[in-house]
Amino acid sequence: MIQPVQSKLLAVIGHPVAHSLSPLMMNAVFTSLNVPAVYVALDVDDLEKDLQTLAAVGFHGLSVTIPHKEAALGLVSEVDETASAIGAVNTLRLGDGGWQGRNTDWIGAVEALKCGAPLHSRKALVIGAGGAARAVVYGLKREGALVTVTNRTRERGEALAESFGCDFVLMETLSEPLDQTGYEIVVQCTSVGLEGREPILPVSDSLLRPGMVVMDIVYRPAWTPLLHRAAQKGCRVVKGHEMLLHQGIAQLEWWLEQSLPRAEGVQIMRNALEKALSNEAGH
Ligand code: NAP
Repeated sequence: MIQPVQSKLLAVIGHPVAHSLSPLMMNAVFTSLNVPAVYVALDVDDLEKDLQTLAAVGFHGLSVTIPHKEAALGLVSEVDETASAIGAVNTLRLGDGGWQGRNTDWIGAVEALKCGAPLHSRKALVIGAGGAARAVVYGLKREGALVTVTNRTRERGEALAESFGCDFVLMETLSEPLDQTGYEIVVQCTSVGLEGREPILPVSDSLLRPGMVVMDIVYRPAWTPLLHRAAQKGCRVVKGHEMLLHQGIAQLEWWLEQSLPRAEGVQIMRNALEKALSNEAGH
């Protein structure tokens, strides 16, 4: 058994993972707050075998990203109620009996969306029905928001809506009448708008109204086509990296088993992410 001596070893595992910004944001916190830990990115393609190796080498905590979040759920010795409900694990911690699993994506989404106002009883539209959308819907429902799901593919969208007791609207039927539905929050959870893809809106901009909170969980680019349009229409925009950093703080607190100075940690992560994203945009 190999054990690190001075530092907690932490990593993000995914495939591919080379472009992850998590090491940058985590290590910025460790440096600024004198946390004895290091965080690296590891490309993992054989999840079951590689998790055993990482435990033997002495890794203490792992962030899990695409494509391993669902498979990780089946490989943990213990899982909390949130990860089971969402059906995915994005955080692992090594315990006596093996890897324990949690999901902090929903915390990231909720914290980013609150914008100083409670989510209870607010009407929210979640666009998408993949793994990230499941975490967002779980978080919004847990906070008491009134959630409608929309998705391109009916089966996946209906299944998500049914799991959490939400309404479902097929994406292609979203149009002008939405002006009357009074959504106060829109969360874009599809991969539409990702860098390198066609810069299109996932849904018609007719649903955007001044004062509405609009979050796009895609964070590359920081300003997605949807966020650009939402800002022009007077919406309150929340960028995708806000979800990333808030879920990251929750991961750190679980791994380190201590509360961090949250506001300070969040600001350190935000600064690191915004600098990296603006450097990328300048290239
Ligand atoms: P996923 O499970 O593959 O789901 C993809 C979703 O996008 C599905 O709802 C899919 O609809 C929809 N979609 C894909 N292409 C589309 C198109 N051309 N038109 C309409 N809908 C389309 O992916 P995921 O894990 O949920 O991740 C989704 C995005 O969230 C990724 O870009 C990821 O990077 C981002 N993310 C961000 C954070 C954060 O912290 N900010 C965290 C997690 C994920 P169908 O069901 O019809 O295929």
